[in-house]
This record gives sequence, structure tokens and C-alpha cells, in this order.
Amino acid sequence: MSLISINPTNGKLIKSYKEDSEKQVSAKIEKTHSAWLKWKDSSFSDRAKLLRNAAKVLLKRKLDLATLMAKEMGKPIAPGIAEIEKCAAVCDYYAENGAAFLKDEMIATEASSSYVSFQPLGVVLAVMPWNFPFWQLFRFLAPALMAGNGGLLKHASNVTGCALAIEEVILAAGFPKDIFNVLLIGSKSVKQVIAHPLVKAVTLTGSTEAGKQVAQQAGFHLKKTVLELGGSDPYLVLADADLEQAAEICMQSRLINNGQSCIAAKRFILVKEIEKEFIRIFLGKMQSKLTGDPFEEGTDLGPMARMDLRNELQQQVTANINAGAKCILGGKIPDFKGKHAYYTPTILTGIRKGMPAYEEEIFGPVALIFSAKNEEEAIRIANDSPFGLGAAIFTADRKHGEELAAKRLNAGSCFVNSLVKSDPRLPFGGINQSGYGRELSAFGIREFVNIKTVYVK
Ligand code: NDP
Repeated sequence: MSLISINPTNGKLIKSYKEDSEKQVSAKIEKTHSAWLKWKDSSFSDRAKLLRNAAKVLLKRKLDLATLMAKEMGKPIAPGIAEIEKCAAVCDYYAENGAAFLKDEMIATEASSSYVSFQPLGVVLAVMPWNFPFWQLFRFLAPALMAGNGGLLKHASNVTGCALAIEEVILAAGFPKDIFNVLLIGSKSVKQVIAHPLVKAVTLTGSTEAGKQVAQQAGFHLKKTVLELGGSDPYLVLADADLEQAAEICMQSRLINNGQSCIAAKRFILVKEIEKEFIRIFLGKMQSKLTGDPFEEGTDLGPMARMDLRNELQQQVTANINAGAKCILGGKIPDFKGKHAYYTPTILTGIRKGMPAYEEEIFGPVALIFSAKNEEEAIRIANDSPFGLGAAIFTADRKHGEELAAKRLNAGSCFVNSLVKSDPRLPFGGINQSGYGRELSAFGIREFVNIKTVYVK
């Protein structure tokens, strides 16, 4: 079996990679474990130095790495470079703060000394998606290495070039050989890796379905999991919102990475006073974005990452139109030349309960508009979803917005007058079908450690 990278701009084969055999996979796990036995005793300052090196290597190679992403999954060069810069920033962030996050915590008891010590777990498997092929991995790997763990990457089958480039970055930074290894396997072989006694925990970013499968397998072997899954983030626009600003932010969030982001805005819930005017401004902004070759300057949106994902998106759009939604922009596969995975910005209005999009995640440049009688109904619709990753609310009354964000909206991250974004300083993760556990910040680095109690009488 092979892992195949296909350029979604033209359907051409980039490269085919032979999958690792079971024996090769076991050998890589054992090597990573052996490297970890030494790594776990390294000092925080040594680890921090290597993470800073990784940041430098990433920045030096940012154009090449962005070019690789453009070829393998269609991301235009400018956002590709921004992604690599964010990876460098998360390496620097944990180099700077990791030791403080994992410092012993003294707790007064009747003992002469009692405290919490954060010890690495061992080799952690990361199952990662194609949408941010570098960022998704680095936000796991930087804290994992800083905490003294080893890492194995099973990347999405369509971005093997990116996976191998990450391995090269880690080696070029001077990390010990084998502390991080890439497994060239398809999703069917993940079960075998989870079952391996030297693999201590698993993190997965991807669809809810993949998360359930991996959680089930890890649960059977009593291994810890962190799951960062799909989302259908609601963006609520209240009657007093600055509509120009709200529409701009809503458009940006919906079209980030061509709509292929777990925390992209997906459901726009509009109270009736502003519905018409918001749609008018938002439509203009969505229309203004240019879809085209990711290598050409001026291109806002490249193709989607794979043709099957684009075709699936088109089926979702059609199913909703058939169920009564109105399409006011896009809605069909564009008539570009050749074999491609392009899809242009699309808006569906009149989404109601009972239509597929009320519950499903739409992973592409398709905005769903919901009408609400008032604020109460907008909140009810926002929370009436199987997901719970992010949410945003737009209002001139910042205090009121904050209260709704903090107390009323059900999601892992709730933002006011801003798009939902990940930031190394803030915890990131979801509730319900969006998964569990947190990445980034002090919370993220403490996911894959043994929170050990030490008690000396
Ligand atoms: P998947 O969730 O299928 O893939 C993500 C990763 O999980 C890949 O490495 C994949 O490997 C692996 N994987 C898939 N199924 C299993 C399994 N049963 N056991 C172990 N590993 C598995 O995403 P797709 O690429 O198929 O995209 C489908 C949908 O997933 C999207 O339309 C979107 O809704 C959602 N998604 C969400 C993401 C997020 O950031 N939350 C990111 C990507 C997708 P392989 O590539 O070899 O199948």
C-alpha cells in the first residue's frame, strides 16, 4: 500500500510513498522509546535551547515549507508562511514558559515535604490532519518535547511530504535522533500503534468519527487521549453590532484556510433587526475574494485539499438546497479548466432545524445563515448543536457580550467582537462532539505528564 500526495490544483500525482510494514512500525516505536529513555532526564534548559533552534530552522525554511503545503493541500503561499511563523512562535513560547509550567508545586500537609511533580509519560502518538499540516503538529509537539516526552506522527495520508519535512526540521534543530519519528501508515494501521505497550498516550486532531474510533481503541488499552475534533462554530450578530466590522470578521473566519478549519465560523445567527443589512454587507465581502492558483500573488483562496472533500461539500450544499435552503452565492463546482478541487465562496440562507446543515459540520467556504427572532433565540440556536468548539458574539455592549460568552454560550472558546483563534498563551479545545482535553498554554503541556504526588514523612 502507498500514501499518495496529489496536487489539488491540477489533480497531478506529486509523489507516492510506500507504507511502513508492521515490522518497520514496531522498530520506529522501539527506537523512539530508546531515545526517550535518555531524553526524559535532559534539563529544561537543554530542551528549551533545541526548541529555539527548531523555531530558527522553521523561519529559515518558511518559504520552502509553505511551497510544500501549496502543492500538497492547496494553501496559498502567504497564509502558508504565516502558519510556519506560528509554529516557530509556539516553539519559542514553550522554550520560554515550559519550565515554569512544569515546576514542582509545593503543597502544605503534615508531611515534612509534599508536592506535585510533573513527569513525562513516554512516547505519545499524534494522529494529525491535512488542514494545517505544520501548525496542528507543532502545537502538540512543542509542549510534548518540552515536557520530556517522545513523539510519533501519523499524518494525514495526503500530506506525507509535510510530515517528512517536519522530521527534517526536528533533526536540523539538533534534537536527539529518533525522539520524534514519522510513521508512514494509513488510518487502518493506527490501531496497531495504539496497542503497542511502548506507546503511552494518543492525541488526534480530525473528524469526530476518527476521534471516536481512536478514543475507543485507546480506551481499551487504558491510554490517555486528547481529542481536537470538528466544530460548527456559531457567530451571533446582535441588533446593536457594528455590522461592517462584524461582517468583515465573519467573512475572514468563514474563509480561513478556504473554510477548512475546525474553528472557522460556520453558522451565522442573525437577529431579525439586522438580518437583511448584514447579509447585504457579508455577501459583498464573500464575493470579493479571489479563488485561484495558490502560487499566484493575489489569490485569496486556493483549491480545497482533496477532490473527494470538495465533492462531498458539493453534496452537502445540494442536500440543503433540496431541503429548502436558499443559495445566494456560489453553490456549484466552478468551471475552471482541468482536474481540480476548487470550490468558490457560497452562502446558504434560511437554515432551519431538520435540514442537514443544522447539525453537520460544513468543511469548506460555505456560510450558513440562520434567522433568530431575538437574542434569546439566537443563543438557543447557537447551543442547539452536537459540537462545542468555539463561538463568537458581536455587540456594541461589550459587558453584555462578555456575560453571554462566559455564561451562556456552550463551547471551549467564546470570543466577543473577534474571530475565534488559537493562541499559544490560551487553552484550546472543545466540549461535546468537538472532543476533550486542551492544547496550548499551561493546560496543554500538562495533558501528557504524570501529575505525580511526592510525600516525604
Ligand atoms: P479524518 O478525520 O478522517 O483524518 C484526520 C486524521 O485522522 C488523518 O491522519 C487520518 O488518516 C486519521 N484517521 C481517519 N480515520 C481514522 C481512524 N479510524 N483511526 C485512526 N486514524 C484515523 O479527516 P478527513 O481527511 O477524512 O476529512 C473529513 C472531515 O473531517 C472533514 O470534512 C472535516 O469535517 C473533518 N476534519 C476536521 C479537522 C479538524 O481540524 N478538526 C481536520 C480535518 C478534517 P488518513 O488520512 O490516513 O485517513
